[in-house]
Amino acid sequence: MEQELRLLYRAIAASSNGITISDPSQPDNPIIYVNRSFELMTGYSSEETLGLNCRFLQGPDGNQPPLTEVRAAIREERDCQVLLRNYRKDGTLFWNELRLSPVHDERGHLVNFVGVQNDVTERKQAEEKLKRAYAELDERVRQRTARLAETNAELQREIAERQVLEEQLTHQAFHDPLTGLPNRTLFTDRLDLALVRAKQRKGKVAVLFMDLDNFKVINDSLGHEAGDQVLLAVAERLEDSMRAEETIARFGGDEFTVLLEDVASVSDAERAAERIAEALGAPFYLGGRERFLTTSIGIVLSTSGCELPEELLRYADASMYRAKAAGRACYAVFDQSMNEKALERLELEAHLRRALKREEFRVYYQPKVSFGSGEIVAMEALIRWEHPERGLVPPAQFIAAAEEIGLIVPIGRWVLEEACRQACRWHDRFPDRPPLKVCVNLSGKQLQHQALVEEIDDALQETGLDPTALNLEITESVVMEDAPSTLATLQELKELGVNLAIDDFGTGYSSLSRLRRFPVDYLKIDRSFVGGLGKDPDDTALVSGIVSLAHSLGLKVVAEGVETAEQLARSREMGCEFAQGYYFSKP
Ligand code: C2E
Ligand code: MG
Ligand code: MG
Repeated sequence: MEQELRLLYRAIAASSNGITISDPSQPDNPIIYVNRSFELMTGYSSEETLGLNCRFLQGPDGNQPPLTEVRAAIREERDCQVLLRNYRKDGTLFWNELRLSPVHDERGHLVNFVGVQNDVTERKQAEEKLKRAYAELDERVRQRTARLAETNAELQREIAERQVLEEQLTHQAFHDPLTGLPNRTLFTDRLDLALVRAKQRKGKVAVLFMDLDNFKVINDSLGHEAGDQVLLAVAERLEDSMRAEETIARFGGDEFTVLLEDVASVSDAERAAERIAEALGAPFYLGGRERFLTTSIGIVLSTSGCELPEELLRYADASMYRAKAAGRACYAVFDQSMNEKALERLELEAHLRRALKREEFRVYYQPKVSFGSGEIVAMEALIRWEHPERGLVPPAQFIAAAEEIGLIVPIGRWVLEEACRQACRWHDRFPDRPPLKVCVNLSGKQLQHQALVEEIDDALQETGLDPTALNLEITESVVMEDAPSTLATLQELKELGVNLAIDDFGTGYSSLSRLRRFPVDYLKIDRSFVGGLGKDPDDTALVSGIVSLAHSLGLKVVAEGVETAEQLARSREMGCEFAQGYYFSKP
């Protein structure tokens, strides 16, 4: 037994755990033994410890919750295991994992308590560190999640906003902002689809192209707001008169298009045109007054379903101008047998009318120089067409067509007014100089137009231009045409006080007797003869002949198309009073 006791004693003394034994039979359960590890762990020596109650290790920290368990275990004489905050002799904290066990004698009486202590500070610190790290991580995750949720909400909002915007943009791209009707793009798109369907079903599609008659008058006289009101009202009536499956579009300006699918024959489309005319037949109320509107409609039917949308629109457009030419307020069906040339012609007419409506014409001016003073004395007004696709179109490409369809009358009136206005501007700007004259070309059709003299008089009155500052140029062939009214018209013009010139002289076949009777002031020698001056003896002789003829009739002579110094010198030698041409300036 002694040997065994020695062994146990050694084992306890050598244990790396701190071990304490207390004696509960003595007051306050004093420590009666501590091993070496306890001394190392706490810094207290065995002498300092013996006789003390174990609670001295807790110092001021004697209320920590695990102590309740320790006290209960002591009371109830049972095992317990707790983790305590203890303090070393130097005051530093260490975490003590305490296992307390009662020891009983052979009769079961409590004799001792054995405390096994384990310094778990490092583990505890590692745990704490880990816990803190976890807490930090948790916090970071929480914050990040919150931020993510916020970003996500923002994103959702943005997506929703963008969707609305996109819808608006798409709507805007395919609809007319004023009437809300489909626009040209959407119409062309739908026509394209309709043609594909028609081809599959071997059916037909019809396009109606309509243009309001006299819309410009409303717009110009009542203002753009009234014009917009009319367009809105027209759009409404069109929608009311058409079926849901029929596409109505505002094509631009006062042009509307209608797409009809599954048409059996032209009469279906004609009926639709009649419905439109009827819908627009009721009066419109504008500025407190009733006004009536009519429309011209062009109709085209797809024959094979093989046509392109642009082609059909082109035909419908051309037909619409036929309806206009036929006196407006009616419809015209595209003539399928029309050849390309006739179609092109029809289109040119259509485009010319549109150009006038859209104010695409411009006036350029070319100076006329006097040999006497060496100064610019006049400017010739020369029209150009600023075509949105083709660029600047010269008059040679459209004047003849404009004449044929009678459009030269309104175009000519516009040029005249514009030129008179411009001349007045020059006079205002250079009041000290002799007033510049302005030369305006008149076509044969204009000359035959009943109201010509009145219109010119109006233009002069309206702009306030002195009649003597206006020169009217008429091509020789027109003057010599022998139309009975020509002479009378020229005389009336002369009475207004304006000057007259015969243009392109030498190209027509003037009879001297007629020439003598005409109240003209100038002859403009055609540039084809001026071009040969000095080179071609025939031309030179001809020019010389014309000049003496003109002078004998009391007319002044203008050399047209002077390009070189030599031509200039020659025309001067021959007695021309004026010269005009690229040598001085292009229009
Ligand atoms: P025009 O009245 O005999 O006008 C002269 C034409 O010759 C102009 O052509 C002018 O640009 C061109 N020209 C002038 N100097 C020279 C030159 O040195 N060399 C060359 N190669 N050409 C020169 P543009 O402007 O093309 O006009 C052609 C014609 O169109 C005019 O011939 C006129 O008959 C007609 N025209 C022009 N504007 C009007 C208009 O407002 N009304 C009418 N009815 N006819 C017009
Ligand atoms: Mg001329
Ligand atoms: Mg000429």
